[in-house]
Amino acid sequence: MRAAVIDRPGTVRSAEVPDPTPETGEVVVEVGACGICGTDLHIADGEFPPTPYPIVPGHEFAGSVVALGTGVDTGIAVGDRVAVDPSLFCGYCAPCRAGRGNLCANWGATGDTVDGAFAELVAVPARNCYRMPEDMTWQQGAMVEPVSCAVHGVRRLGVEVGESLLVVGAGPMGLLLTQLLVRSGATVTVVDRNAARLPLAEKLGASRVAGSVAELDGALFDAAADVTGAAPAMEDAFDALHRGGRFLVFGVAPAESRVALSPFRIYNDEITVIGSMAVLHSFGAALDLMASGAVHTDELVSHQLPLNEFPAALDLVREGAGTKVQVLPGLAGD
Ligand SMILES: [Zn+2]
Ligand SMILES: [Zn+2]
Repeated sequence: MRAAVIDRPGTVRSAEVPDPTPETGEVVVEVGACGICGTDLHIADGEFPPTPYPIVPGHEFAGSVVALGTGVDTGIAVGDRVAVDPSLFCGYCAPCRAGRGNLCANWGATGDTVDGAFAELVAVPARNCYRMPEDMTWQQGAMVEPVSCAVHGVRRLGVEVGESLLVVGAGPMGLLLTQLLVRSGATVTVVDRNAARLPLAEKLGASRVAGSVAELDGALFDAAADVTGAAPAMEDAFDALHRGGRFLVFGVAPAESRVALSPFRIYNDEITVIGSMAVLHSFGAALDLMASGAVHTDELVSHQLPLNEFPAALDLVREGAGTKVQVLPGLAGD
């Protein structure tokens, strides 16, 4: 089969590799669509420590089941159209036993620690497959994983009806968070220094948009979510919180990054700083939200490229062009 292979950091190639064979409890999925996210850039650049090389990346995907291994006990069958939760939790470490598998001490994920879905075929645990409604497209199925990250983020933040929220960053994740926060009853302001992204934020429910926190005339918020991972943006958002405010760190910053937050304010104003890491018990909810039309993702997909153009697709994400870039192995490439 064809696949995008990263042999070592800094190299990406489209290659012919052996088809995967399903192990016990696994199925093979023929990939319909797979989205690129920031983590894929980190994997390509050698900045995501758990990655073994060589690896086929790709963790936001949907496709059809084409083969079953032995011991598949979930009722999944050949021909089923599925969105796949990439999470590979060990199930026996302390966080797993406490119901917090996303913090697994032996954490893994399809496309991050084992071969993923920038390929024609990918082997995954049958238990991670969620059947898609018939009218859901591959493009939408590949958005379930990012939506499930946003669902987890909103659950971590905890939102009350009528709260004022600030979302910093209007990329795909910021726009998914915005939709869920608006649906939860919050009034949402979105800032992004890329002005081209702001009209879509408004269309998807933001009541106010701006290029930066500084342009908000000193407005204060009950909670803020950073989706940039950029220290200056985080510091500005933190300073725009009401006393008693909550600060959600949702964007992925480099591991060595540091931000300047006032410990006096955290103490004196009882500010709560909250992290949100990937997906936890939120994949099914994300699928349901999309199936019911409660969350819109079609507007967020700006580019769809064939598999052999994966290096170019990665460059589009690196340049910040458009919003969500997807790879469709079924598209005819050159
Ligand atoms: Zn991702
Ligand atoms: Zn574990």
